[in-house]
Amino acid sequence: MILKVKTKSRTEFVDITSEVQNAVRSSDIADGFCMLYVPHTTAAITINESADPSVKSDILMVLNEIVPWQAAYRHLEGNSPAHIKSTLVGASEMIAIEKGRLVLGTWQGIFFCEFDGPRTRKVQLNFMKS
Ligand code: ZN
Repeated sequence: MILKVKTKSRTEFVDITSEVQNAVRSSDIADGFCMLYVPHTTAAITINESADPSVKSDILMVLNEIVPWQAAYRHLEGNSPAHIKSTLVGASEMIAIEKGRLVLGTWQGIFFCEFDGPRTRKVQLNFMKS
């Protein structure tokens, strides 16, 4: 199934944990895996702390420092930093499902990572039984 994510800023982390958990619930899979895949070249997906919102802003701050908007990029579209961040963070995650729930740590959340927004984006979810 496809999860739609509307982003509001150029660079942003959107917590999609509850949407993914709802999709797991409606999949009726008790034990297995949930594969999350972002079919975009300027976005990504990651798992990290969702309890303290400072964590995601610190990660974004460092990504923006590592990959500055202005540099001698050659890609004519002008969004090379977004492509680079997408590759650094990665396009997929796989999470185990036990008893119909995602196996996540207490502080973990799933974040859609926008690097060239705002846009309406997609996250592809595929389920496997084990
Ligand atoms: Zn581009």
